[in-house]
Amino acid sequence: MGRRRISILGVTGSIGASTVSVIEARGLDRFDVVAVSGNSNIASLAERARRLGAEVAVTADPARLAELRAALTGSGVEATAGPAALIEAAGRPADWMMSAIVGAAGLAPTLAAARAGTTVALANKECLVAAGDLFLAEMARSGAQLLPVDSEHNALFQLTHGTRAVPIERLILTASGGPFRNFTRAEMARVTVAQAVAHPNWSMGTRISIDSATMFNKALEMIEAWHLFPIAPEQIEVLVHPQSIVHAMIGYSDGSILAHLGPPDMRVAIGHALAWPQRCELPVDRLDFARLSRLEFQAPDPERFPALDLARAAMARGGVAPCVMNAAREVALDAFIGGDVGFLDMAPLVGEAMARLDGLPAARDLDDIYMADAQARRVGRELVKRYAA
Ligand code: NDP
Ligand code: MG
Repeated sequence: MGRRRISILGVTGSIGASTVSVIEARGLDRFDVVAVSGNSNIASLAERARRLGAEVAVTADPARLAELRAALTGSGVEATAGPAALIEAAGRPADWMMSAIVGAAGLAPTLAAARAGTTVALANKECLVAAGDLFLAEMARSGAQLLPVDSEHNALFQLTHGTRAVPIERLILTASGGPFRNFTRAEMARVTVAQAVAHPNWSMGTRISIDSATMFNKALEMIEAWHLFPIAPEQIEVLVHPQSIVHAMIGYSDGSILAHLGPPDMRVAIGHALAWPQRCELPVDRLDFARLSRLEFQAPDPERFPALDLARAAMARGGVAPCVMNAAREVALDAFIGGDVGFLDMAPLVGEAMARLDGLPAARDLDDIYMADAQARRVGRELVKRYAA
């Protein structure tokens, strides 16, 4: 087999770093790296592009092109910048792409790869949450393969072997419960950003760590699962599992439950997506059941973690409601990080934005998605002012 052509969007992030580490563990000589992308961290982008011998390095920020060019001098790596350059690089012929840009900025470049028929290893959540129907329709049209990388969905993909043939009775997504699993509401009302970022089990980017603390991350994952698997919203369950060893479970109508277990290390899911349909050896910890001693499970508390019910409401409403939920969540998250609203303000703020935009029509194309996203952000920012006052 020849060398595989691969690209990594969001190479400077946490998933990007784990992807580079998996590729290096597999052996760089197996791959031709086409495109790598970042945004603000030019030093890391240039360093990774050089190390991987990428064809092109793109920063999404056009103001940083000169800096990127300078950092790549003499490397032979082409430097480009801006959203259009990102889409162009993502659409270059490749066999496999890691989609690990955070936020709605990941949507257009991932769609470009999908349209080019590239196998998409999907870490970015917005492609499914904000634009699931459109995104999956594009994938189906080009025949591109989708490989979920979010650990729960990668676990479910492994359990179902990617087939949709056998009817599933229930899907169980596990959640660590985050740093505030045992906090009272009164204690949660006072938590700081630093406390929210300190995730007990997983080492991740700042935003997704805070989303884990509110369980908005699990809310997004419920919607991802709803798009990826042939299942109704009420068949999706969330279970708090503090050890993060069981990543997801699938139940069939004969009462059987299949579970996926592994160390809490994103390289497992990334390596699976890279080697699929084979498997590869990875330098991750092996589970030692004798030392684990116990695996605990508990139902999530809807009073302390209202994000889960917002996801159910968004799925019941359908159309652009998940997109609105997601965009309002981003605004609420920024406001929390910026110190404008408290930790417990985030979910009610998102719920109010969803209620206000309940009448928006379903999206016909990406522009409609962007419009709903923009409206939700505008309403979200108005609400932030009120909550901050
Ligand atoms: P990070 O914040 O660590 O990295 C985000 C990446 O996106 C960086 O490369 C960053 O560039 C780039 N980026 C940021 N803003 C923009 C923009 N406007 N345009 C283009 N690129 C941009 O995030 P993670 O790696 O943690 O997560 C990546 C995605 O994967 C997220 O959607 C997350 O929800 C999802 N995910 C992550 C998991 C994890 O364990 N980390 C698990 C499951 C899913 P730069 O750093 O140069 O600014
Ligand atoms: Mg996850």
